[in-house]
Amino acid sequence: MEERYEFDEATLLSALAIGAPGKRTFFLIIGQKEKWLRAWLEKNLLESLALAIDQFLFTLSREFPSFSRRAAGTPSAENLPSGLPAAELETEEITLGFDREKATLNLSAHASGPQRERRVEVYCRVTLSQLEKLGDQAKSVCAAGRPRCVLCGGPIDPSGHICPKSN
Ligand SMILES: [Zn+2]
Repeated sequence: MEERYEFDEATLLSALAIGAPGKRTFFLIIGQKEKWLRAWLEKNLLESLALAIDQFLFTLSREFPSFSRRAAGTPSAENLPSGLPAAELETEEITLGFDREKATLNLSAHASGPQRERRVEVYCRVTLSQLEKLGDQAKSVCAAGRPRCVLCGGPIDPSGHICPKSN
């Protein structure tokens, strides 16, 4: 069983995290109008997405000089979704593409919870500035973790930190 969502003019696209520092979980919100999805993903996938977006926009601006990175359409209003998501997903892979002057995001995922075996594919088209904003959000969400120890560079939990460099 495979389910497919298509958002040809996605208006909702953001990267978020919830939870206490060190125990955060990460997700994307993707959608259009009242229909939206919450796609959970591992932090390292979100980090690779941020890098991939940078690379993608850089390549695109070289191949198509008319697409300057900061002038690729106006970002949509930052409206957070209302109500419940149409689906909760566990993201496995994200690929970026380009289609009719818009960027495309393809998510391979499966449903969260008891229906885990259900495969879900998500296809959405966004403006380049939406994509750029997503990249910026992904970077800041990933960087906003636990404070780092100045001695060893390790993360400091709210409960404290046993530093290998100060024994
Ligand atoms: Zn330390």
